Amino acid sequence: MFVLSQKRLKPIPRILSIIIVALLYYGMAEISRHVAATPQDVTPVWPPDGFASAAILIFGFQLLPGVLIGSFLANIWAFFNADSWYMEIFSILQVLGIAIGTTIGTGLGNYLLRRSINGRNPFRRLDDLYKFLGFTGALAPMINATAGVLCLCLGGQIPWSIFGTVWITWWVSNVAGICIFTPAIISWYKFYVNSTKHKEKLLVNWKTEAKKIRFRRVIEAIILIVITLEISFLSFYQNYPLSYTLIPCLIFAVNRFGDFGATNLIVVITTISVLGTVKGLSSFAIQYPDSSLVLLQCFIVVVVLTTLSLIAILSEKKQAIANLQKSKVRLINKSVQLKDNQAILNENALILEQKNIALTESKKVAESASLVKSEFLSNMSHELRTPLNAILGLTQVLQTSKNLDHEEQSDLKTVIQSGAYLLELIDDILDISKIEAGKMELQFQNIDFLQFLTDLVNTFKVQINHKNIDFDYQFSPDLPQFVYIDSKRLRQVLFNLLSNAIKFTTKGSIILRVIASKSNKSQLELEKTLISISFEVEDSGIGIDVKRLESIFLPFERAEETKFKIQGTGLGLAISQKIVMMMGGEINVSSKYGVGSIFGFTVCLEIPKTNISDKHDIPNKLASNTNIYDKYLAQKLPLRILLAEDNPINQLVASKILNRLGYEIEIADNGVQVLEAMQNRNYDVILMDMQMPEMDGIEATKHIVGNTDLACRPYIIALTANVMDSDRQICMDAGMDDFISKPVNVDSLTKALWRSLRQGT
Ligand code: ADP
Repeated sequence: MFVLSQKRLKPIPRILSIIIVALLYYGMAEISRHVAATPQDVTPVWPPDGFASAAILIFGFQLLPGVLIGSFLANIWAFFNADSWYMEIFSILQVLGIAIGTTIGTGLGNYLLRRSINGRNPFRRLDDLYKFLGFTGALAPMINATAGVLCLCLGGQIPWSIFGTVWITWWVSNVAGICIFTPAIISWYKFYVNSTKHKEKLLVNWKTEAKKIRFRRVIEAIILIVITLEISFLSFYQNYPLSYTLIPCLIFAVNRFGDFGATNLIVVITTISVLGTVKGLSSFAIQYPDSSLVLLQCFIVVVVLTTLSLIAILSEKKQAIANLQKSKVRLINKSVQLKDNQAILNENALILEQKNIALTESKKVAESASLVKSEFLSNMSHELRTPLNAILGLTQVLQTSKNLDHEEQSDLKTVIQSGAYLLELIDDILDISKIEAGKMELQFQNIDFLQFLTDLVNTFKVQINHKNIDFDYQFSPDLPQFVYIDSKRLRQVLFNLLSNAIKFTTKGSIILRVIASKSNKSQLELEKTLISISFEVEDSGIGIDVKRLESIFLPFERAEETKFKIQGTGLGLAISQKIVMMMGGEINVSSKYGVGSIFGFTVCLEIPKTNISDKHDIPNKLASNTNIYDKYLAQKLPLRILLAEDNPINQLVASKILNRLGYEIEIADNGVQVLEAMQNRNYDVILMDMQMPEMDGIEATKHIVGNTDLACRPYIIALTANVMDSDRQICMDAGMDDFISKPVNVDSLTKALWRSLRQGT
């Protein structure tokens, strides 16, 4: 801050400044002595020290030599003793002592002030003002007075007996000088700096500003000066005790003209009061000169302290208002920013909403596209199954013919195998499209798990028989008998893994491992018992290149080398992975190219509380009785069967198969005919197609279920090419008892017929 500048002046300007300070100090001292000294040669106010302090505060300690010289000059003429050379030297030393005292006092006072107020203007804050009054105003003059009075006593100018009195007078006059003149000089300096700093601005604004503000200010200033001078004159030259009325003038000055106006008004008032008092004209000038002086100094102290405090308080207030203003501006800026942000946010929200709408629309489009796709696929699958039903059904019937030679038998087998593969492809494509449409759902049931595994192993033992590889299975002894699972889908996964193992293995062995481990989750949730079961299929086949391991789970992906050699669509693993994921697991694979592969997964299954299988699997004893074309089935299981089917080819296929099993059946072309037939005869089993003209299978079933007693109601088996899970559900909801899909498989049909018996008994 400008007041406490530390800027070092260059040598020449410095020397010049030192000389100016010395001369001004000396000049002020001389004027004070001649104009403001009492008849006892006492100056109640000593302005040179106030000037010195201001100079040091403004320009720094570099001007202290000026104070030393000035003080020396100011005192040498008063105390020089030319009586003898000895006295000359002595008095010079004595004055030097006084000067050094003044210099040290001024230097130390200002040093302490600078340190404590950290470069600020000391008249801007109350606590800074107190520091100024303490260090510069009170402490510095103490050193000054002590040195001065000591030197005078030592030199014999004054007796030691009045040391105290002289010290007090000296000190008080210095204090008054500093407190009156330092603030005033600093205010001048500040005024000078401000006017040079804002010169251009002032010039630009001069015309308007001058008219508006300055004119009023000048009038105010003139009135204030006139009133102050009048009161001062009356109080200090006319002996009227009106000095207290100067206080409002000073307050007005502080308020309207700031520190510059007020500090200079103090100078004017105190100068007049001192001049009047030393001449004996003031209201303070009473009988005793010492008391007059004390009264005057008291007045000065009160005036100075009050005014300086007011200046500081006002300045603090202004600062606070400015800070408040700044905070307000910052707040406004922040709120503007906030509003901007809010606007951006709103905009983004709008964009988001629009995107959301667009997304919802595209989702709708995608959903309807997927609906169209799955409807198409389900229709396609239905349509493909009808001719396949004929191919597979009739070839199965043909197989039983005794008139075929060996080559014809072999050709027939090829037709059956190709048909079976075609069926597998249709099922896979239907499954993958179901997965993609998000329509694959698991149908959980309680199943006999050990029986499930035994059936699986038996099937694969047959499949592997004609290959030169071993099939081994390892089941941990703690496997539960019953579990709650979608057995159809679990079988599909294990079938796929085992079929792949067989497909890609030419020598060595295939191992199926099923291992149980009690799950951590067990007993935690709702008293359910859960168990973790790990399935693993290991083979010593061709293995998979490590680079391909990830991609084999993608639809239609096949490991490159095998692409054209071995049959497959690349759908099996994709479907299996999805199914296992739906069961809460994940298929992992570890494989070494040329050595073999291990495919495995772990699922957490619930163990049902009741040991009853939901699935109407025929009991083992009965199942063993079923084999392909049991021509004595009708004898073992006599049934009155009605086939509800509109398609003549399907009628032909079903009736031929059933004939081979020993049944004579009746046929109804639609639901209406079914109901009519039932009027005339009781049937044990109705094989019911879903889609038929006039009245479809679903409606006919509902009719039967609604109008017939449970005891004499036939066992209704859906026989349909609609194979989606939803189709099965529709049949079951309508009241059908069983479900087999087309193409008709003799084995499934036989099992379903056996189930009708169990239902009936
Ligand atoms: P697909 O067997 O019908 O081609 P999958 O999805 O079941 O389709 O298998 C994808 C590919 O993964 C197969 O084509 C084959 O390259 C590879 N693969 C699967 N299982 C095995 C296995 N046990 N040994 C070697 N390669 C396998």
